[in-house]
Amino acid sequence: MRNRVANRSGIVIRRRVTPAGDIIVTLLTPQGKLKAVARGGVRGPLSSRLNLFHHVGTQVYQGPHNDLASVKQAVLEGALPTLAEPERYAFAHLMAEFADALFQEGEFSEQAFELFAAALRGVAHQPDPEWVALVMSYKLLGLAGILPQTARCARCGAPEPEHPDPLGGQLLCRSCAALPAYPAASLDFLRGVVRRTVRMSMDRPVAAAERPLLWRALEKFVAVQVGNVQSWRQLVPSAGAAAS
Ligand SMILES: [Zn+2]
Repeated sequence: MRNRVANRSGIVIRRRVTPAGDIIVTLLTPQGKLKAVARGGVRGPLSSRLNLFHHVGTQVYQGPHNDLASVKQAVLEGALPTLAEPERYAFAHLMAEFADALFQEGEFSEQAFELFAAALRGVAHQPDPEWVALVMSYKLLGLAGILPQTARCARCGAPEPEHPDPLGGQLLCRSCAALPAYPAASLDFLRGVVRRTVRMSMDRPVAAAERPLLWRALEKFVAVQVGNVQSWRQLVPSAGAAAS
């Protein structure tokens, strides 16, 4: 019987410490999502390395009967210290929970890893981290093949809908809608963000006042299409504002 040791490099997107002092981490890697435990990790050098948003190179051991892999070693390969700033931290946390909800364990996606890593760098360095988070959330959805319908009314199929769809986060035509139409810039964003390059979307940010409506649409769309996103939903700005 052979035990398996593997080297995996990835970004910590979830971290939990158990009462026994183990650290359970979820890494997003170019080979997919990986959940592993560092036993007794809180008391050793792994504790500071296996921090949220750190890019780490790990050696993991998969025992013959353990379902959860063990982290044996971890080296820090990259960190984004500006993510500690409260506003940036909030959006980085949102992106990490989003990636966790969107991608399954073992699902191979180098592109998802690259896009997520770019999103974190953007949130860390761009002057408008909220806009980075909105743009990259839609790009990650597009990569996962979960695309909001924007060409036709989500309810009746009429062309060129312009109104919010409060239940499904897509778009409704004038006769199906109860809410006023989206402002032009928001509508342009919703119609174009998935196929446009990140740079193009970054160059035409929607005004801050219009964003709560976009967050609400994203939150609804993801809740309906992805499901099981409770922890993510609590981090979405509009959901938080509505709850408080
Ligand atoms: Zn309609």
